[in-house]
Amino acid sequence: MTNTFLYQEIKKAFPHTEPAKIKSLEKLGIKTINDILYFFPKRYESASSAKLIEDLVSEESVTIYGTIEKLETGKSFKSKIPKAEGVVVDSTGKVKVTWLHQPYIAKIIKEGSLVKVHGKVTKKGSVSSMLNPEIEMVSSIPDNIGDNLFTVDYSTGESHRGDFSASEDRSGAIGGSSGAAGSMQSLMTPVYPETKGITSKWLYHKIQKIFSHPEFSSIEDPIPENIRTEYSLPNLHTSLIWIHTPKKDSDAQVARKRFAFEEIFLIQLKNEQTRASHTREQAFVIKKEGGDGGQKSVEEFTSRFPFPLTGSQHTSINDILDDFTKGYPMSRLLEGDVGSGKTAVAASTSYAVVSSKPKGQNFGTLQVAYMAPTEILARQHFESFIEYFKHIPISVGLITGNGCRKFPSKVNPSGWTDISRAQFSKWVKNGEIAIVIGTHALIQKSIEFKHLAYVIIDEQHRFGTAQRQKLTKKQTVMPHLLSMTATPIPRTLALTLYGDLDLSLLDEMPSGRKKPVTEIVLPGKRDEVYEKIRAELHAGRQAYVICPRIDEPDPDKAETMIMKSVKVEAARLQKDVFPNYRIDIMHSKMKPADKEKVMDRFSKHEIDILVSTSVVEVGVNVPNSSIIIIEGGERFGLAQLHQLRGRVIRGNHQPYCYVFTTDSSKPTDKTIDRLKALATAKNGFELSELDMAQRGTGDLYGNKQWGISDLAMDAIKNLKMVEAARKEAKSIIVSYPTESDLEKNYPLLHKRLVLKREVHME
Ligand code: ADP
Ligand code: MG
Repeated sequence: MTNTFLYQEIKKAFPHTEPAKIKSLEKLGIKTINDILYFFPKRYESASSAKLIEDLVSEESVTIYGTIEKLETGKSFKSKIPKAEGVVVDSTGKVKVTWLHQPYIAKIIKEGSLVKVHGKVTKKGSVSSMLNPEIEMVSSIPDNIGDNLFTVDYSTGESHRGDFSASEDRSGAIGGSSGAAGSMQSLMTPVYPETKGITSKWLYHKIQKIFSHPEFSSIEDPIPENIRTEYSLPNLHTSLIWIHTPKKDSDAQVARKRFAFEEIFLIQLKNEQTRASHTREQAFVIKKEGGDGGQKSVEEFTSRFPFPLTGSQHTSINDILDDFTKGYPMSRLLEGDVGSGKTAVAASTSYAVVSSKPKGQNFGTLQVAYMAPTEILARQHFESFIEYFKHIPISVGLITGNGCRKFPSKVNPSGWTDISRAQFSKWVKNGEIAIVIGTHALIQKSIEFKHLAYVIIDEQHRFGTAQRQKLTKKQTVMPHLLSMTATPIPRTLALTLYGDLDLSLLDEMPSGRKKPVTEIVLPGKRDEVYEKIRAELHAGRQAYVICPRIDEPDPDKAETMIMKSVKVEAARLQKDVFPNYRIDIMHSKMKPADKEKVMDRFSKHEIDILVSTSVVEVGVNVPNSSIIIIEGGERFGLAQLHQLRGRVIRGNHQPYCYVFTTDSSKPTDKTIDRLKALATAKNGFELSELDMAQRGTGDLYGNKQWGISDLAMDAIKNLKMVEAARKEAKSIIVSYPTESDLEKNYPLLHKRLVLKREVHME
């Protein structure tokens, strides 16, 4: 590598950096010079783009300067959410500022100090306000606020927005307007994501230093030149200068596009590498015809179901059975709304596996492992599998943190029995238990299989090669993998996040499901709706109440606040709204065992109303619950609302979904229209596409868990870009499928991939 400076650690390159700063940098994932260069501003600011209060326009995101007055903490009138509020005053007017769930702000900011505030303005008549703005104390107020004399021309930026075609004009290409590194005077100051101890100013100065380092001018670009030319992407050197210190908006946009492409391209390369490596693996071949059982009787198996399969269940089963014949391990994602019948697909294809004999053997069967995220779900699957398989002479096992079970029991052949872990392990290892259902305990407790041929993962976001290998240890053949999810995600996101998997969709619901009544409830209509809910509860139904997502950048803090709102809401409902019903709570900070207990009591109807956060227990089936109330509905993505609603669409009772908007802010017509799509859209996929068009991806699907930057998440909206990255990655990996091939031919790309992998392993 010629650019050695770039991969140097910060503490080596800048030996005078305080240890505390080094620590804070590490928290941001920054260890090397290269990491700093790839830490991008979230926006840019110039004093002339700040506004005077009298010039504010509703719904606009702006920066204002002023004095903060009347700071106080309190609770919002209706929902009792803790808050801080105050008034920002400049020479032309005042703006009311409110921070919900962040009362600590009143302690950090001193009343009467000069502040810079950035956020979205809401105007009602002559009163302007901002909800949850960023705030920062400043030492002085710039004197050219609202002065447009110095603003650069933004009009040239237009042609870069959204479009990603090779024919686009090349004003963003190499040799454009970039000045010499270091000597550039930028009108736009970069604003970086904040952390304690690392200010935007500090980062700016460090980056200027890096820019003036002699090695920076010869920085090599991992994206091959032909690809850059094809898609009019500026080179790395130019892009870094443009993203950190743009002279104009269009420069920053072109640079962001380039880095988004780079990231998606790297993800696609990794996906293609994984795919390529799988096709080199051996797998169990389960033939369509043939003397050893296998697939030929799957139809007979499914004909015993108490319902006809839906068309998409048929197609998915066939996709999987096809993959079983290919000779290398399947990697497939089965995506279908809650209630679309994924378990039946899992069972039918499992049947093909367990009715196959191991190669060269005329006894025993191949084995299936079916992993669920929680104990309750594992138990539910165990019970449905017993129903599906009770007429077949095989054993089904269950393993969770709380013990093991086996069906059939020797004493009672139509039921299951508890067995010891030692016994369980022995029977799995010698192949006697053909289908093993379990929680993560399946991996943790070192269960060994004799002929594990098929792994099914339910509702798990990601299950990597490493875990697959853990299950397969001591076995030379890699099992087929089916990952199942009810989270509807847009196509481009699926192509990126699951680019190494093939996709099957369950996009139709079994017939006979009752269509839910979905109502968007405006503030002020609460009591009417509670009256309707009371009638349903009185008739013996149960309800979920979901407390809102909270916009707070620190996930831990957000978690704590949601937890608090769950408790507060439960108390309020018990005291003021449903005093005669049993209410309990559940949230993600509870211990798994406690969650299970609550869920168990809910499913036994010992609880009437369960107040909970949005993240827990997606797949659980409590058929008697027919009402779901979602608070702060405008804060959720449509697809997520749809998924939450899915909990109450379970068959017999008429389901109701009431989406409340936050009381303290009157919803705009746009919000209402967006939410109304819930009542009209055909399925979760349609809603996820709508979500993406309206709100962007990062906002909805998070990115921490995927290790994808905001920048790339945003770019995933762009189907052309995702497809281009995929196409280019495919063509490279087709020619150079192995690590060493890639290293020889694309050393820089290889290096970036290795670095990326290291970050993920941590
Ligand atoms: P999910 O996709 O959420 O995992 P399940 O597999 O739990 O859905 O199925 C939900 C319910 O629908 C189960 O009670 C199952 O028996 C039933 N079901 C599955 N497929 C069909 C079908 N084709 N027709 C009618 N009911 C079905
Ligand atoms: Mg399920």
